[in-house]
Amino acid sequence: MVNEFRLDPESLSFTLITNRSEGCKACKGKGNDIASAPFMRGRVKVYEIKDDVQPSKYELSGEFFKSSLADGYEEVIVDSDNHENKSKTFTVEEIEQLLSILEDRINSLDKYKLGQNMMITRTQEEHGYFDLLLLPIPRKETKGCFECESLKNASNREIYSTENFLVYVPFAPRSDFEIVVAPKRHIGFGQCDPMLLFDLAGVVKKLSGIHEKEATWAISQNAGGHFKLKFLGGKANPYDLLEIKIATINPDLLAKEIRETKKL
Ligand SMILES: [Zn+2]
Ligand SMILES: [Zn+2]
Repeated sequence: MVNEFRLDPESLSFTLITNRSEGCKACKGKGNDIASAPFMRGRVKVYEIKDDVQPSKYELSGEFFKSSLADGYEEVIVDSDNHENKSKTFTVEEIEQLLSILEDRINSLDKYKLGQNMMITRTQEEHGYFDLLLLPIPRKETKGCFECESLKNASNREIYSTENFLVYVPFAPRSDFEIVVAPKRHIGFGQCDPMLLFDLAGVVKKLSGIHEKEATWAISQNAGGHFKLKFLGGKANPYDLLEIKIATINPDLLAKEIRETKKL
């Protein structure tokens, strides 16, 4: 089965139809790294994920129902050789180093035109890795920068601020526990200098400790190019956060199977 994105014309949300295989993405990629960088006493390794997103010659165009062979790019950036996660014990310097590796990945992928819609997630208690997704599905455009407006209007939802970042609870959170860390100036994740990343790492370190249960870090960027890092309660993958639903059974094949076997 070929992976495919389909647009639901009523909700304007996308579904990825995929035969994705289960299991830990970081463990499955082991031994097939396409890039690596030194980290702590070992190396951070990058594995390409070929299940869900692949090159496509089709555009998301058409009249009412839009469909495209899954196009885009996914990779995992893994900081632990074993199925374990050291997120909570990282120092600020180590977090800064990881953020800097992510920034390098984003900047080095930039030249391939893999898509603009970026999402990077890391779930605290799974295997220690970042799941990076770049999709051609367009980001929603807003009048003016949504993040700049959110920063101006955080008021009683503000938690604290550093020299460069404001930490606040969003106006319309999508889950019970959601905190946004956004740079005060309009800047993309790929343009952060080491000082900015160090400041961000300090915030991440503080926030990592406050949520007792599993949490997910998520880095994204809006259509205007302003990035943010979110802290969410529970597990989440980049597709969840881009609000892309996943169906593992092809709808056309499902209909065929029911027609042929159920004698309705
Ligand atoms: Zn694993
Ligand atoms: Zn902005």
